[in-house]
Amino acid sequence: MSLLDKLGIKEINSGACTGPDGWLSTEGGKILESVNPATGKVIATVHQCSEDDYETVIKTSTEAFKEWRMVPAPVRGQLVRKIADRLRDQKDYLGSLVSLEMGKIKQEGDGEVQEMIDIADFAVGLSRQLYGLSMHSERPMHRMYEQWHPLGPVGVITAFNFPVAVWSWNALIAAVCGDSTIWKPSSSTPLCGIAVQNICNDVLADSGHPPIFGLIIGSGRTVGDRMVRDSRVPLISFTGSTPMGKSIGGIVGERLGSTILELGGNNAIIVDEDADLSLAIPAILFGAVGTAGQRCTSTRRVLIQKNAFDKVADALKSAYGQVSIGDPLEEDTLMGPLVNQGAVDDYLAALDRIREHGGEILFGSNVKEGSGYFVEPTIVKAENSWEIVQEETFAPILYLIEYDDIEDAIEKHNAVPQGLSSSMFTNNIISAETFLSPAGSDCGIANINIGTSGAEIGGAFGGEKETGGGRESGSDAWKAYMRRQTNTINWSGRMELAQGISFGDFSESK
Ligand code: NAD
Repeated sequence: MSLLDKLGIKEINSGACTGPDGWLSTEGGKILESVNPATGKVIATVHQCSEDDYETVIKTSTEAFKEWRMVPAPVRGQLVRKIADRLRDQKDYLGSLVSLEMGKIKQEGDGEVQEMIDIADFAVGLSRQLYGLSMHSERPMHRMYEQWHPLGPVGVITAFNFPVAVWSWNALIAAVCGDSTIWKPSSSTPLCGIAVQNICNDVLADSGHPPIFGLIIGSGRTVGDRMVRDSRVPLISFTGSTPMGKSIGGIVGERLGSTILELGGNNAIIVDEDADLSLAIPAILFGAVGTAGQRCTSTRRVLIQKNAFDKVADALKSAYGQVSIGDPLEEDTLMGPLVNQGAVDDYLAALDRIREHGGEILFGSNVKEGSGYFVEPTIVKAENSWEIVQEETFAPILYLIEYDDIEDAIEKHNAVPQGLSSSMFTNNIISAETFLSPAGSDCGIANINIGTSGAEIGGAFGGEKETGGGRESGSDAWKAYMRRQTNTINWSGRMELAQGISFGDFSESK
């Protein structure tokens, strides 16, 4: 049995699903080819979702929500627990599919599925902890409290680089919150969407619960845009580039819907003069080269105290020289391909702009000969103020930038439009605490002696400034998937107004 068979993927697939037994025919839809970025060859094809299919999926999801919202949250958690069990069984296959379709190495593909399992376990616990506060009323014999109610069908639009985990951060938390979800995966990774939908369908079919997980595969400009504008979808959780996020935020804001925006990063590591390089170098390497530099949390800038610059640069060049590039499914490979030719073009265009700035290339800068979209991981000596350094290039290009003292380091660190992940390597407690203080890193994630990428699911994940301000995954990120209601119950037998207001005596009125 082939990998695709094991995950229920056919040679030609439907691009819309309402739930168990709900794969729509979509045969008239434009054909989308899923391409293996390591070879440039087509893996399988998908007929994209039409307007009618979209309507069917939305209507089913809306009906499913009406039923699901009345299921007690701990019972909802049991459904998610079964999904976690199924993901444990399928981890090897699904992890391999992620590598095959997206191009990240097998270790990282499996890691992504582990992240799904972790968030599912977290969501199961959460299903018994959707706490609201209670307040003391200013009026006698009044009870006041708040409760959290399900919100509605949630639209989940995801990027290519985390083709399964980001769905789970959203959909599994939304599920215990009592919401249904409609997922629009990236057009670069539709098969991952189909495989996950098959897992959900199997679990749902045995459960007797309504079809709360829906899938629509189609171009962002048509099916994605349609969902963004659809007032039946109160929350759009969007993961993708900053320009797209700005546009989506505007459209959803216009209809006063809610958004969770998880957009681009431009993440830096500060290497203090006394940093332990045996920690810093592996962290920078994983951050910059892991996933071929295609993580939102990828390390793009390293700020190095000027006395330590040469030592750090030499250590990085030596580490880069040992990175094996190739088939992401081979055990020894550390770096796979970029996702497509467009990404290779972006890498080359960024290098042209670096050369225009007079940037010194310390390592790499070449496209690999042969099939697939392979490039060399690249190190550049750069200035933080260069326009190209201010942008997120979704490729393994690392800028090394000098700084004088901790104030200069933090100023340069924060002097970019994005604010996702950040880190400092230091053994100096004053430097560390300065970096974590209100005057320090302006990012949503700030670490000491840990790199910028590879967050755990337990914390709230997201960033500031042009990263969009959204939070997903752990901590209290679940609140974005629910609506808060404040309740006051009067059991005093008298009608008393708040703030002591007197409005006449009508107590005898019938
Ligand atoms: P992208 O913006 O090109 O696409 C993201 C999604 O938006 C895709 O599903 C796409 O089909 C859809 N889309 C495109 N046009 C649309 C429209 N008009 N309406 C609605 N949806 C539309 O991003 P990408 O290239 O897939 O992913 C890379 C980007 O995602 C990077 O900028 C990266 O930093 C970011 N990202 C951020 C996070 C985070 O958590 N902050 C996580 C992963 C990726």
